[in-house]
Parts: sequence; structure tokens; C-alpha cells
Amino acid sequence: MFCHSTRDKNRRAGCAQAVLEGLAPDGGLYVPEKIPQVDAKAWVNLPFLPLAAQVISSVLPEISPMEELVDKAYTGKFSGPEVTPTVQAGPFTVLELFHGPTGAFKDVALCMLPQLLTAAKSQNGMEEDILILTATSGDTGKAALEGFRDVPGVKICVFYPQGGVSPVQEAQMVTQEGRNVFVFGVKGNFDDAQSGVKHIFAAAGKMPGVRLSTANSMNLGRLAPQITYYFKAYGDLLKRGEIAWGQKVNFSVPTGNFGDILAGYMAKEMGLPVGRLICASNENNVLTDFLTTGVYDRRRPLRKTISPSMDILVSSNLERLLYFVSGDTALVKGLMSKLTRDGHYTLPEALLRAIQTQFWGGWCGDGRGKAAIRRVYQDYGYLCDPHTAAGWAVAEEYRAATGDEAPMVVLSTASAYKFPEAVLSALGEDCPENGFAAMARLHERTGVPVPQSLLGLERKPRLHTRVIPKEEMLSCVLGL
Ligand SMILES: *Cc1c(COP(=O)(O)O)cnc(C)c1O
Repeated sequence: MFCHSTRDKNRRAGCAQAVLEGLAPDGGLYVPEKIPQVDAKAWVNLPFLPLAAQVISSVLPEISPMEELVDKAYTGKFSGPEVTPTVQAGPFTVLELFHGPTGAFKDVALCMLPQLLTAAKSQNGMEEDILILTATSGDTGKAALEGFRDVPGVKICVFYPQGGVSPVQEAQMVTQEGRNVFVFGVKGNFDDAQSGVKHIFAAAGKMPGVRLSTANSMNLGRLAPQITYYFKAYGDLLKRGEIAWGQKVNFSVPTGNFGDILAGYMAKEMGLPVGRLICASNENNVLTDFLTTGVYDRRRPLRKTISPSMDILVSSNLERLLYFVSGDTALVKGLMSKLTRDGHYTLPEALLRAIQTQFWGGWCGDGRGKAAIRRVYQDYGYLCDPHTAAGWAVAEEYRAATGDEAPMVVLSTASAYKFPEAVLSALGEDCPENGFAAMARLHERTGVPVPQSLLGLERKPRLHTRVIPKEEMLSCVLGL
């Protein structure tokens, strides 16, 4: 199957090429020419691994052998064979996406991306090494390091803002093992690290024999694996007799870059009976405004919240949705250049209405998020992280506002132990200064098991201790 840029139908690439490039050369995102139509009714009965192979193959049919790639990606890396289990908690079903190597949902895609990338590389006869460059505000960096460690023909280099990630997240990155991994702290904030990476891409000509790529969620190879768990969750509800085949299920998704929820939209377009997709934001509520008014406006200060992975003002994957609903690359190109130039755009009325039939947006501030953590724990014995809590609170708001009582799946995107400070304070506990002491206190208080990957982190050797000024990022990369 061919892919093309969201900004130009004539910018075509095979899907293997699209995975290798990450971003289309005109700055657009690659989309498949057609969203495949699948036998969803049969697929929902499959276990996770064969299901993932079917789903990913349908979007990226050129890349093979998919069963083998999926097996290498997931077997032994998640805490159980279900990979993404669901649990009932009061009125909702929670889809737990955090049982992978780093405790956050990005593992589901970032375990798979290296397999897709190396298969695409050999299928295209590409001989150079690939260097993956990633600036991270916390979760992506660690998940990418784990996914790419010791993958032959690939090196990975992660830049994180020193002091700009949580102590647990920093410890996860600086203790990373692997022969092909490089981690640097940058003196500056996330934007400094991100613009440093863009600068290195612009200077890529100076690095003969090396191809640069990224692990961020604009890569189609990250999007495709995320479609799997929507089918999986639907199948779980079916198995438990909660629904009959064909009945619509709603999904509430804690959203930042719009990648996770877009995978849900693709599942729906492929034939899964999905009702509404609930887009849950935090106080950085650009998407809530957009889904209610059709105006996308990033001209506002970025606020730091207790759900940092959703602290984002430009949700890159929304561009793909704009293309899917309009089919009009010229329109998308126009809106995106207006966003870059003026900081805002307004969607044509008919398109807004089309999007509103499928999506519903809401947001949850830190106070309400903490109240949700406390209430869900007290009432149902379920411990949420702050991202999941936003999804929960907005799902409740949706039900109250619309009266739509269809079964609701809330996507749980991180382990509560990645954000122990916020969770302890939500439960009304004093919080120790040290992040690891906070983890221990949370465990004492709740008895919920600490993920294997976070246990013992404090005592692991710190292997990556260099902190550099942002001006030195390029020379660092040239020296790898
Ligand atoms: C990245 C992330 C999100 C947001 O996902 P998007 O695909 O960027 O919308 C939500 N929660 C957690 C814990 C994350 O790491």
C-alpha cells in the first residue's frame, strides 16, 4: 500500500519508506492511501499477538514477516501475555496500557517500532546505520531507549531537559543499559532540547553514512501498533458478556499529541463498532476548545500540570484527522501553515460537525484530577495515575452531559508509581521529598504492586551523567 503526505497527495512513499522517514519531506505526516476495511468481528476474538500482527499488517502490508516481528517486540517484555489487559472499575472498564518495560503506554508502540524500522530497512536495501534522535519531556525518551537498546544497525540518542523531568523519569533514563544508547541532559527546557534536535536534522548532510530518524508519534510505525488495543478491549467486553457483537463502545483517551486517540479513530474506520471517542485534556485545553468551537488556537501559555505528558499546545497528529475527514490535502496544508504563521486556524463548519459526531472533548484541571484519583480509589479500590484520572473525570462528564450510557472504556496510560508525588497528595498523604521514598510510601498505603521496571531503580548505576549546554548538542551527536 502507498502512503502520501497529509499536505500533498503526490508526495507518495511505500509504507516501509514512510516508516523509515518518519515525517514526509514537505513537513506533512504520512497517511495510508486508504484506511483498510477488515473483518473486525473475527479479529476481536484473537489473542493480542496474532491480533497485533493482523492490525499492523493491514496498515503496513509491505513489512514482513509480521508474526515474527510482533513476537520479538512483545514476548517477555510485558508483565503478562495479554499485554494490554482490561479491568472493571465501577461504571467503567479500564484498559491498562502500562504493563511494559517503562510503565507508560508508549511502550506498546515503541517496542514495535524498532522491529518495523529494521525490517523496513532491510526490505529497502538500506545499508547505512540509523540514528534515532529524540527530545523528551519524560516518557518517550525512556520508552524509546528500551525499545531500541541493542537493536543492530541502530543507535539511539535521547536529550532530556535537566531538572525538567521527574526524578523517577530521570533515573529511568540515566541508568539505561545497552551498547547503542546515548543519553544527555540539556541545560534548558524541553523546547530547547526539541529545537536542538530540529537543528541537528537540518545539519544532517554533515553526517555521511548515517540516516537520521525519530521515534516520535508522527511516525506511522508508532501509530499502527496502537490500533491493536482498541480491538483487544472490545473483544474483552464481548468475552465477559458485557456487550453483543455490533454494540457501540465509547473510549475515553487522555490526550496530548493526539496519537493514541487517532489510533481509536482508525480502529473505528477499519470496522470496529466504536461509538464516541472522548478526548480528555488537562488545563492545556486547546483540543477541548477546538472540538467545541472549531477554532484551534495555540496562543496561550503552556501550563505545568500533574499530567506532564499531556502538557502540549500543538497536537501534531490532529493533522491526520483533518486529512481523514476532509480528504483535502490543500485544505490541510493551508490550515497548518496558518497555524505556524498566525498561531491559530478555524475549521470549516461542515468539517467541525463531521468531527463532532465522532469525538467529544473535555478537560480536567489538577484539582479535579486529584479528586478523581481519591474517589476512584475509595469507591472502587482502583488506583489511577494523573493522566488516567483526567480520562476518568472527562468520561463521567461526558455521560452526565449527553446521557449516553453506552459501555465506556477508559484508557489508562501510566502506572501510578511514575507520578507518586501527585497520587499521594491526592490520597491526602504527606509526600516525602525523594521520589523513591514516595513510591515506597504509596506502596505501603495501597498495597498495589510496584512495576518490576521501577523496583530497584534507585540502586542502579547512573551510566549517563553528561549534562551539556544546548549549543553543544550537534557536536555531541557528531562525536557518537
Ligand atoms: C504520551 C502520553 C499521553 C498522551 O498520548 P498522545 O498519543 O500524545 O495523545 C497520555 N498519557 C501518558 C502517560 C503519556 O505518556
